Amino acid sequence: MKHLLMCLCYLMAILLFQSCGQEKGDVLIQNITTIDAINGIKANQSILIKGNRIVSIHDSSNGLTASNIINGSGKYMIPGLWDAHVHLTFEEEVEEHMFDLFIANGITSIRDTGGQIDRMVKLKEQAESKVTHRPRVKIAGPLIDGSPRVYDGSAPGVPDISKGVSTPEEAKTYVAELAAAGVDLVKAYEMLTPELFEAVVKEANKHNLKVTGHIPLQMTVHQASDLGMASVEHMRNLEMSMVPNAEAKVAERVKIVSMSQDSLGYGLRSRLHNNYRFSSIAEIDPQAKSKVLHTLNKNQTWQIPTLALMLSSELLPWSDEEWKQTFDYLPAKTKATWLRDCAQMVEVPVSDNQKSYMNWAKGMIQDLQDNDIPIMAGTDCPIFFLTPGFSLHRELQSFVEEAGMHPLAALKTATYNPALYFNMEDELGTIDAGKIADLLILDKNPLENIRNTKAIHRVIKDGYVHDGNALEGMLRL
Ligand SMILES: [Zn+2]
Repeated sequence: MKHLLMCLCYLMAILLFQSCGQEKGDVLIQNITTIDAINGIKANQSILIKGNRIVSIHDSSNGLTASNIINGSGKYMIPGLWDAHVHLTFEEEVEEHMFDLFIANGITSIRDTGGQIDRMVKLKEQAESKVTHRPRVKIAGPLIDGSPRVYDGSAPGVPDISKGVSTPEEAKTYVAELAAAGVDLVKAYEMLTPELFEAVVKEANKHNLKVTGHIPLQMTVHQASDLGMASVEHMRNLEMSMVPNAEAKVAERVKIVSMSQDSLGYGLRSRLHNNYRFSSIAEIDPQAKSKVLHTLNKNQTWQIPTLALMLSSELLPWSDEEWKQTFDYLPAKTKATWLRDCAQMVEVPVSDNQKSYMNWAKGMIQDLQDNDIPIMAGTDCPIFFLTPGFSLHRELQSFVEEAGMHPLAALKTATYNPALYFNMEDELGTIDAGKIADLLILDKNPLENIRNTKAIHRVIKDGYVHDGNALEGMLRL
């Protein structure tokens, strides 16, 4: 009898719910056009958010209600953006303001690719203490380098953000320490020997951590990728494996590095880049190149091209008045330094070698796509005049306008792909019920013009809605 009564109550509750037909959330966005890389474009969608999650998506807003209702008519929704290559601790003055600059620009997640571990961990904790107002932070910790290490703090612009290791045991111990400290991935750097590199990858994989980095100068792409390097930043040193005699060149560099142990790492690396980069570009062999692309495809080795950075000598951020206006959102001291440095850059001529290198980089974006090699959008901010937040939009713009990428594919590199990289594709990266509500509402269609990702109307982070005034406030110091 008691059981029957309970069933009846339950039935009545369902009927009551259906008759008034109201589904209530905290936030309701009515009649918006949603765009994501997996579901494509869908008109007239109503999105209900409760807490930090999208609870349901409907073709009509009938019967839906919420305490905060946003009219999405004529507007566009995309998933929150990622900048997959930032350095939070590179410039101390900028450090404190970076989270605000990201959120104000719709960057709801970031991947830090190298910094001092104590400060990184602290910043990550800060971000996690107020998730609705700060981006999700993934960190790599210091660059793990060989000898002589590149970033050793020996000069301004060469901060001490690396750890040199000299034996496989030392490499393993250090990776284990980083894992214990809470890194989300590790970064392998250019002076590592194959033996040290292998030790880094093996230990990282034990802790379920991906290894990103630059192809070490004493290795080929094939060696690094086959050993399990998960991703390559700036497509760095890929060209050196695209020549017919790549192994012989590697052997040369091994000799040079061993004879240059007394040199400063930064200078040595510059010398090696100068000696091998441009000559490789000039000697690229189609067969060797297609072998590299095949290896990257076979191992699904991610690429974070930082294309806008690589095309600096063509995009000329230092002469671009509109771009320099973004410096207004930086601390006064940083702004002054950047403007001074910009004035100096105007004088620097662009060599034919650099032009060839930039053309190679642009062509590579198409090659990566044609060969189904996964790409993520990253910027390297705040290095080289790349204002945090703003620079991610410039990267997307470069993909489309300089390298011919489709706007939806460009959006994918900053939404779904980074989620996939961090095995978070069930949580982030598309507009689907059940996912975390990291969303952007745009005034204009980004598929018509990729620059429309900058037309931000609202930013939703972990379900919290930041309106235009709040975003403007975040930009100001
Ligand atoms: Zn970087």
